[in-house]
Amino acid sequence: SDHYLEYPLSPAHMDWSTHYPKFFTSKSDNNQTLVTQSQSSIQKKVEFADLGCGYGGLLVALSTLFPDTLMLGMEIRVKVEDYVRERINALRSQYPEQYQNVSIIRMNAMKFLPNFFEKGQLSKMFFLFPDPHFKTRKHKARIITAQLLSEYAYVLRVGGIIYTITDVKDLNEWMVKHLDDHPLFERIPDDEVEKDPVIPHVRTATEEGKKVERNNGDKFLACYKRIADNDSS
Ligand code: SAM
Repeated sequence: SDHYLEYPLSPAHMDWSTHYPKFFTSKSDNNQTLVTQSQSSIQKKVEFADLGCGYGGLLVALSTLFPDTLMLGMEIRVKVEDYVRERINALRSQYPEQYQNVSIIRMNAMKFLPNFFEKGQLSKMFFLFPDPHFKTRKHKARIITAQLLSEYAYVLRVGGIIYTITDVKDLNEWMVKHLDDHPLFERIPDDEVEKDPVIPHVRTATEEGKKVERNNGDKFLACYKRIADNDSS
């Protein structure tokens, strides 16, 4: 349950310095602690979000590929969040110059996203092997719905990309239908998708992706671009 989860009042209330300390510097000014960003990373904000990140395989893979991009995994299970935090801390101590750009937060990714991210802040959102919620009466719990897509469209910039992958054909069809129906998303053609350097990691970097691989399961990929709406916002 997410009853005890805390949410910032607005993105401006969120203190990211504990998540990405190397990208921020804190200085104490009497009883006030001022947190500012280091010169080299003025205005750096989280740009990639992995919703329901599980054990963090995608973050770890993308961290070194995009060392200057801040990425955040969102995970609702406490134990999984703890695991990913320890995994990132271990990597940071083993490779002090690396893995500074990845972090994990415990949250319900289906709630309060606009409290964490400004309009158009994100450039990539990942939905990798999300829980299928097979039963019809559970479909409303799926992480892609018409209503949630409008929230995702709000935090994703025009030109930003939603990546979805699943081994469950029915869930793939559900996600494709809702994304196709939404006015602010446009499917990226397969040949264009395959040129995207993150795609091999979307397929194989996560723990669930590896499990599907071991079981010779199918992987249904669907990627969508955030397009401008009529008043081009
Ligand atoms: N993406 C990972 C992967 O590919 O290995 C994990 C896939 S796992 C099947 C789905 C994950 O989503 C679980 O770790 C679950 O705890 C998490 N999850 C489910 N609903 C969530 C929500 N509303 N907010 C955040 N995480 C959620």
